[in-house]
Amino acid sequence: MAFLTLTNIQKSFGPVQVVHNFDMGINKGEFVSFLGPSGCGKTTILRMIAGFETPSGGSVIIDGKNQGSLKPNQRNIGMVFQAYALFPNMNVHDNVAFGLKVAGASKTEIDQRVKQMLGLIKLEHLADRFPYQLSGGQQQRVALARALAVKPQVLLLDEPLSALDAKIRVSLREEIRQIQQQLGITTVFVTHDQEEALSISDRIVVMNAGHADQIGTPFEIYNTPATRFVASFVGTLNIIEGKVADPSAGAVTIGGQRISLKESIAGLRGGDSISLALRPEAGSIAEGAKGDTALIGEVVSTSFLGSVIRTKLRVGSDIISFDTFNDPGLTLPVSGENVTLRFAAKDLLVIRE
Ligand code: ATP
Repeated sequence: MAFLTLTNIQKSFGPVQVVHNFDMGINKGEFVSFLGPSGCGKTTILRMIAGFETPSGGSVIIDGKNQGSLKPNQRNIGMVFQAYALFPNMNVHDNVAFGLKVAGASKTEIDQRVKQMLGLIKLEHLADRFPYQLSGGQQQRVALARALAVKPQVLLLDEPLSALDAKIRVSLREEIRQIQQQLGITTVFVTHDQEEALSISDRIVVMNAGHADQIGTPFEIYNTPATRFVASFVGTLNIIEGKVADPSAGAVTIGGQRISLKESIAGLRGGDSISLALRPEAGSIAEGAKGDTALIGEVVSTSFLGSVIRTKLRVGSDIISFDTFNDPGLTLPVSGENVTLRFAAKDLLVIRE
């Protein structure tokens, strides 16, 4: 049985339902991210786990215990918010000690645990500083140490990195993941940043208007998106609009060029529109490029992105982007040139919703 179970969770504010019948089991020690655009309901789900919001229906169960009747402070949960919610009038030591004091721990216990926590976030040397004397990244590390000090059953992180600048965001997310794995703590993380979710999660829940469109590992979410929404929200997949040519043969046309899919489209009819997804790294125009499928297109533009060069190709009315790894020996295609893009048919996915 899962460690944290959300069963048929629903939430309405007045007449507006913002979370629809959400079900999920999260395993002990798992790191799960809720990913989605603003307003999709991810924070509301986190707040229901914490007890700050009461579900309109369904239940939150942690380690077999229904949390329904428990207030937030009666739940064994640690939480870190987007805004640095440290107590401004307490130094780092006292901030981290706060929950332990409330729980009635002895001074020796508190000092030991605070020392251990500050060691974990590598800020032992800043124990006497006040929040205003810390950088944003340091404040969030202290907030993390404070949340973990009381040994919660579940750690909830509500966009804890979004107020930080890009470089700190990347290093702190790696640190959070490392600490989470070290402690083996079950963690739920809310973010609207797909790269963040892909890089640190065991599993991702992609939320769309109060529903989970897909739950899967980062690998599954990125490589086999279940819906058009997941495909367009996660990564920079090409969504190509084609037409069904011969359903029984799995044949479609893209910009008038006929190709065969690996996936069955037997349920569709000739002439139906069909949406297909192709990852930019799945195609190549290099001489001798591998792939059982080819499309001819006109180069629209090339942009140098550092480690890769992104080329946009016009195929009929579709624009298809593909990436080539940088290599000083490369000859870049020129705008207006006609080229053949090769890829494996198995990489062209049918988007059904
Ligand atoms: P963000 O990233 O912007 O925080 P989110 O996906 O976390 O977005 P939620 O905060 O869960 O979204 O909000 C989901 C919907 O519920 C939104 O339309 C929001 O306006 C609405 N909502 C949230 N809290 C309340 C409230 N207390 N009263 C009324 N509506 C609310």
